Amino acid sequence: MGAPPADSPTPPAAFPPAAGPSAPRDRPAVGGSADLARAAPDTIAARLAAGDRRLISFEFFPPADAAGAEQMWDTIASLRPLAPDFVSVTYGANGSTRERTLDLTARLARETSLTTMGHLTCASQSRAESKAVVRRYAAVGVKHVLAVRGDMPGGPTVPWRPHPAGLANATELVRLVKSQGDFCVGVAAFCDPHPQRLDPALDARLLWDKQAAGAEFAITQLFFRAHSYFDLVERVRALGCTLPIVPGLMPITRLSQVERFAQLSGAVLPRAITDRLDKLADDPAGLRQVGVQVVAELSQELIDGGAPGLHFFTQNRSDATRAIWAGLRLDPPTPPR
Ligand SMILES: Cc1cc2nc3c(=O)[nH]c(=O)nc-3n(C[C@H](O)[C@H](O)[C@H](O)COP(=O)(O)OP(=O)(O)OC[C@H]3O[C@@H](n4cnc5c(N)ncnc54)[C@H](O)[C@@H]3O)c2cc1C
Repeated sequence: MGAPPADSPTPPAAFPPAAGPSAPRDRPAVGGSADLARAAPDTIAARLAAGDRRLISFEFFPPADAAGAEQMWDTIASLRPLAPDFVSVTYGANGSTRERTLDLTARLARETSLTTMGHLTCASQSRAESKAVVRRYAAVGVKHVLAVRGDMPGGPTVPWRPHPAGLANATELVRLVKSQGDFCVGVAAFCDPHPQRLDPALDARLLWDKQAAGAEFAITQLFFRAHSYFDLVERVRALGCTLPIVPGLMPITRLSQVERFAQLSGAVLPRAITDRLDKLADDPAGLRQVGVQVVAELSQELIDGGAPGLHFFTQNRSDATRAIWAGLRLDPPTPPR
């Protein structure tokens, strides 16, 4: 979804073992890095191409402190019975946060059987530094990379300036990652127009460019109107781009938080939703309940319309995501979009 908010220490070593009833549904339950090759014979792209079921995936951010780290690992453990197709950790805006992203990603890849996708940006980073990160991902067995441009320190409203020895955009980053090995590369997509240009046609063309550069799937920025997703898919398909596009969703649990993220990312938060939530401004529990319901309704509409899966920006919490997924009707299957 975006750059993680803060620094965090290395997470505790309390992550539960991979084997057991909560192991992923589509491959054997396995443990450490020695088993990695056997554990993940396929790719996210291959699973999307198979189109026989909806994918589910979870995104986390590097926590700010030890308590946050403990909560994140608890969250991962409690989301695990949902058998995610992959998990990922956002790539930070500066050196220390980036190190924590790399540590967490390495731990997920090495110490669990979860398919782990590494995030990478080209913001404030030279080509050589980007290549070094790709090598670090490869060294821990990470085969999937989400290649996104990133934003300037200070956030998406700060005008973009490439690093003097770096890359201009995400399409170039896709090429760089593909030049470093046999990675399955994902990219960002935008249902509501990217705030830099507010140009839906450009956003669609960039997806075509990214596919031509070697990307194999896309995940959208958060959004709240199902038609924005379907309109994006239509625009992209009209260009001949076949990239599978997975909706990215943020469960609504706090009004101020969702308003902030919507504003930063350029997502439209429709009146129909804010009217439902505003009434509950003084009732946090009621607001959570309605917020979950709102995103559950959106999820169902997306699934019913043929979305190939759902990617949850979990905010390192599990309850809302679990409630949304548990309530979904996933059958009968529809052809992938
Ligand atoms: C699923 C997901 C995960 C994310 N994870 C992270 C993360 O871990 N860390 C992080 O910092 N951010 C993350 N982001 C946020 C992302 O970095 C920002 O949204 C960023 O502003 C755009 O990234 P992009 O990959 O779409 O960039 P690009 O594809 O480079 O596009 C960005 C903008 O640059 C311009 N542009 C690019 N190429 C061209 C061109 N050829 N011609 C004309 N204009 C062009 C356009 O205005 C475009 O809107 C994530 C976003 C998503 C959807």
